Amino acid sequence: VNTTGENEVTQATPDVLDNMRIDGDRLLARIAAMAEIGKTDNGGCNRQALTDEDRQGRDLFIEWARAAGCKIRIDPIGNIFARYPGHDASAAPIVSGSHLDTQPTGGKFDGVYGVLAALEVVSRLSDQRIHLRHAIDVVVWTNEEGSRFSPGCIGSSVATGAMDLDEAYAITDGSGLTLGQELERIGYKGDGQVALGPVTAAFEAHIEQGPILESKQIQIGVVEGVIGLIWYDLILHGVEAHAGPTPMEDRTDPWQAALPILEKAYALAAEYAPHGRCTIGAINASPGSRNTVPGRLTISVDLRHTDQVILNEIDRRFRQQVTDICATKKITYGLSVVWDMPVTAFDQKCISAVTQAVSALGYDYMRMFSGAGHDSVYLARQVPTSMIFVPCENGVSHNEAENARAEDLIAGANVLLQSCINCSAANWAEHR
Ligand SMILES: [Zn+2]
Repeated sequence: VNTTGENEVTQATPDVLDNMRIDGDRLLARIAAMAEIGKTDNGGCNRQALTDEDRQGRDLFIEWARAAGCKIRIDPIGNIFARYPGHDASAAPIVSGSHLDTQPTGGKFDGVYGVLAALEVVSRLSDQRIHLRHAIDVVVWTNEEGSRFSPGCIGSSVATGAMDLDEAYAITDGSGLTLGQELERIGYKGDGQVALGPVTAAFEAHIEQGPILESKQIQIGVVEGVIGLIWYDLILHGVEAHAGPTPMEDRTDPWQAALPILEKAYALAAEYAPHGRCTIGAINASPGSRNTVPGRLTISVDLRHTDQVILNEIDRRFRQQVTDICATKKITYGLSVVWDMPVTAFDQKCISAVTQAVSALGYDYMRMFSGAGHDSVYLARQVPTSMIFVPCENGVSHNEAENARAEDLIAGANVLLQSCINCSAANWAEHR
């Protein structure tokens, strides 16, 4: 261990760093304290973006971060950067964070865990007066959930240039208040640069929000990327006709095309299992009368896969199936893409920093993809990024019943700490 007089920062030997573990009791106590803000009767949280509860949560985070020796910066979209200094000011920071906002009937862990695990990492370093080579920015991203102000991931989108700042300010909630006004009202409209700036690596810890880790009894998910998706609106046109007098062969019934199209869409997901997904979330039959053949069916189709080449193939085959079936059944149709989010592949160096950390710690792990979107999707477009998943009870999230085991939360935070240490030791900044 040595101290540089100038900056009063300490470097630790590899041995000290390898044996470092987070303070699990403090992490759990902070998760519990944060859960008090916006607490619901059913044991969940309602701390939607830019409400008074969001402000209280942010204030509490800043208090803890300052106590750990962090300097606070708030950017114009309200993202909070709590910087724990490194001993090489020329090295771009390691970024780790998530979000404190919740769904209206959200849980105690979604987002919060990632913020407080990162805060625990710097708190532990601070306890031991150890600084890595790189600064660590613990980040609270504004409005990840998108429940009050849509879309989600606004803070990370603006910081990475995927959304314009003024466009974000103008977004309104259900009562017509703008995001810009509300940011100002709660005192979190910062100044200075909008852009994220240089970053060495980004890590986000999160509950899985799905059932895979729990069912396999595996403690850590090393996240390789985020599933890609295509949303379609399929409109099938028929001719309205009376359900009684019109013989079946004389009808133009859009269901005659819909049924084989949907069956084949499900078959595509099955053919590309286990990572293929097909969801028909909404069907509207117009005019929607029991005894009239529909004149129009509007069907939402959501197709996903973790491999972009396969997702492209699923897209191509789905379109071909729609064309072929509609031709056979003599049904005219319209097929439009509403949203196309490509597969996110996380950075191999980040993934291996996490894998090394888990292996050294001796936890069970598996490589996996995230089925949900995260701020890390936007970060990954600009900087080396990966995520760390821990199991959640019954795979339940976006739900007041959301729960996770203490030992898994602690394990995930230890993986995050060791990932940051691995990353800092690897001198990535020079290799980029
Ligand atoms: Zn989340």
